[in-house]
Amino acid sequence: MFSDSLRIVWVYPDLLSTYGDRGNALILASRAQRRGYPVEVLEVRSDQPLPATADIYLVGGGEDGPQALGAQRLIADGGLHRAVAQGSVVFGVCAGYQLLGSSFFAKGTKYAGLELLDLSSDRGPTRAIGELAGTIDPRLGLPPLSGFENHGGRTRLGSEVSPLAQLTAGIGNDTRTEGAWRGKLLGTYSHGPALARNPALADLLLRWAVGVNQLPPLDDTWSERLRAERHAAVAAAARP
Ligand code: GLN
Repeated sequence: MFSDSLRIVWVYPDLLSTYGDRGNALILASRAQRRGYPVEVLEVRSDQPLPATADIYLVGGGEDGPQALGAQRLIADGGLHRAVAQGSVVFGVCAGYQLLGSSFFAKGTKYAGLELLDLSSDRGPTRAIGELAGTIDPRLGLPPLSGFENHGGRTRLGSEVSPLAQLTAGIGNDTRTEGAWRGKLLGTYSHGPALARNPALADLLLRWAVGVNQLPPLDDTWSERLRAERHAAVAAAARP
């Protein structure tokens, strides 16, 4: 676990990397470095073994085919399971969120997930595309969620996970809630990338990884502007 440098793994960039999700690795690395933590970002392709001793694993979105392949390779590899067993942080987005559960649908076929989170996904009546916004679980102590979603799946949460947010806009899991978390594992439908639009969420992952309750504040003027602009856009779209 975290010792001399913070190790961030960007999982399977060749399969799971839609809608700018790679930006999540850049944001985490930058926010850690600006607090003085040395950082290593490892990009691990799907034909490479996944190291099991990194601090944070980022699993991004993907189309159905790459998502199914990515899940099969992660199950066969076992590295992510070993990492979770020893306390690593995992952040999954969209396909990378669905595949942390017990099952998901891709191209009409049901696939096994990694069973790291108590949830399962099936197909919804429509494709969910657009802005996502919501009130985050108060136990996480974060400001409202802001993101962009594009997925066909819907996600049912089991009793061992908590929703990440109660929705104020968008479809998320089921039109009411969005994302899920348990321990140091957190999944969301938010692209954008999610950690650029939600710097406090990036800091939560960093705090989990380095084991501190607080990090020195950063100048977040630009992301606050983006958040305000997106918030105004969501409010304008909701007006009759
Ligand atoms: N293939 C999944 C779905 O459509 C995830 C899509 C994504 O990652 N953007 O639900």
